[in-house]
Amino acid sequence: MRFDVITLFPEMFSPLTDNGVNARARNKGIWDLHFWNPRDYTHDVHRTVDDRPYGGGPGMVMLAQPLDKAVDEALLARQAQSTSVVPVVLMSPTGRKFNQKMAQEWAESDGAIIICGRYEGIDQRFIDARVTHEISIGDFVLSGGEIAAITVMDSVIRLLPGVLNDNQSAVCDSFHSGLDGLLDSPHYTRPEIYNGQAIPDVLKSGNHKNIERWRREQSLRITAERRPDLIHKARQQGLLDKKDEAYLFSLNTKKQRR
Ligand code: SAH
Repeated sequence: MRFDVITLFPEMFSPLTDNGVNARARNKGIWDLHFWNPRDYTHDVHRTVDDRPYGGGPGMVMLAQPLDKAVDEALLARQAQSTSVVPVVLMSPTGRKFNQKMAQEWAESDGAIIICGRYEGIDQRFIDARVTHEISIGDFVLSGGEIAAITVMDSVIRLLPGVLNDNQSAVCDSFHSGLDGLLDSPHYTRPEIYNGQAIPDVLKSGNHKNIERWRREQSLRITAERRPDLIHKARQQGLLDKKDEAYLFSLNTKKQRR
């Protein structure tokens, strides 16, 4: 998978390229990253990439022309490698909110060209002409698109085959379709007793069916407590069976008795 990132601050991407499973996977050639700095495509001595907003107001706006050229260069470089058409994604708080389902879809693709905004944002004419998708990582505002892009890329890269040590582990994560979009269950490791706290007996039982049921019920309980919207969604998609519903019902009656 190839990512082409358009950014004024390529050095900000070292958390993705220099550490952990992502770095190892990049060295193995599972994914790759190329940078295109809009500053390299300016024509004035100051290498200007921004200007004041028309209509007044605070802050600066990124110029369309250096971004346009950066996208051209990224597309050219990609075409030399393969002919597949990739999305041109702008990280933006006004975009569609990113989620695990989107990460899973991206993981099946050839990657993307990702644009990191700065300042107040980007000249809308560039967005209208070149951007195919706008993506937000949440309802808050960052000072630039870099951390948002790293967040999205990290969530996609860990889903690529061969990145995690155990390919199954991503399937059991919160929000993943393997877990029907529910939240993950609690995890325990050695020692068996820590600070006087024991682990749940079922995890020592060796009975895989019971362990699986316990994990499912923990997922249901935690999701019902913290994210009832996700229970609702799973139910609407027909992902909860009779046993799940009976367990959720028992949680409700317990609550009423308390
Ligand atoms: N004026 C804009 C915010 C600009 S923040 C607004 O109010 O919508 C500067 C840049 O940071 C944006 O262009 C975008 O690339 C990035 N950014 C900030 N918050 C983000 C978020 N929640 N998700 C994705 N990108 C974000």
